[in-house]
Amino acid sequence: MSTPIGSLGSGLGGGVELTLYNLATEMLRRGHQLEIVAPQGSISSSLPIKQIPGELQIPAQNQTRTEPILIPKNSVLANMWDYARQVQADYDVIVNFAYDWLPLYLTPFFNTPIAHFISMGSLIDAIDEIIESVAIEFPNTIGVYTQSQAATFSCAEQCYCLLNGLDLSIYQFCPKPTQSLAWVGRIAPEKGLEDAVAAAEIIGITLKIFGLKQDVSYWEKICQEYPNAPIEYVGFLPTVELQKELGQCRAVLVTPRWIEAFGNVAIEALACGVPLIAYRRGGLTEIVQEGKTGFLVEPDSVQGLVEAIKHLDEIDRQACRQQAETLYSLEAMGDRTEEWFQKILKN
Ligand code: UDP
Repeated sequence: MSTPIGSLGSGLGGGVELTLYNLATEMLRRGHQLEIVAPQGSISSSLPIKQIPGELQIPAQNQTRTEPILIPKNSVLANMWDYARQVQADYDVIVNFAYDWLPLYLTPFFNTPIAHFISMGSLIDAIDEIIESVAIEFPNTIGVYTQSQAATFSCAEQCYCLLNGLDLSIYQFCPKPTQSLAWVGRIAPEKGLEDAVAAAEIIGITLKIFGLKQDVSYWEKICQEYPNAPIEYVGFLPTVELQKELGQCRAVLVTPRWIEAFGNVAIEALACGVPLIAYRRGGLTEIVQEGKTGFLVEPDSVQGLVEAIKHLDEIDRQACRQQAETLYSLEAMGDRTEEWFQKILKN
């Protein structure tokens, strides 16, 4: 069950799109049967997708903590779960990638177990509450990316930590980069792009920007505030092209304002041999190996980013690729996920 905030391939879903795509690919490779249920317009050349029409959900990060749960008329989320209800007997487990209240609430009403892959940290009180009650009533069914993400919920002890994985054969190791730095992600306030732009301006090195302009007015504001910064907006690229461009960069700056649940872009960079300069926030603290595969910087400190950039020569790009191979291969992720499903099936 895909995210209801955008069709697969649109980029609106952020890292969860890649997580779902990679997990589904690995499960098929292992001989499991599956179908992906996703909003109409979803595209994939290799995965079976059941397209569901309806109105998209509003992303949780665009809402306030105390906001009530919103469901639009002809909700794609409701339509997706109506479909799931009808076909549930054909499956051993339903995997939910929506960060939304409804699928969690529906857990006790389904006969087939639901594994909830929670893709963000705590954002909305009503969602926290339902995550916590499902975690207690249905042990092991709440999966998270990282311990830091789990720690934002009161049920951290009950969460199952999955990390993430990539098809490393798609990401090529690039030993000799150009001078450019990179920033990759949804262009939206919680991602803190302006700090990376400010650091690039201070140090005078080109910053290549990759990602969907999810919040256009936010992007325009950055352009107005930093008219002379050496930035180059490349666009939202498919993975194969993204890794080619990314690999040629000296480092990726990861500058979130929120508690980043994981940071897919961080492990994609490592897979190409690209060091990380990241704020010490959320899942990034569990990914960056300080001084070995990158540097963790005091959150919201542009000067900290600048200082870290000066030390980039100390990082061995081979060590970055090595970390991705050890921890973030699709096989490693597949093993962790199958173990998770087994635990849920034993409930
Ligand atoms: N991404 C992409 N093309 C781009 C820029 C980004 O496919 O040009 C993808 C990237 O591969 C990653 C996702 O966007 O999977 C961003 O995920 P992340 O976990 O870093 O942040 P989120 O958007 O989920 O908060």
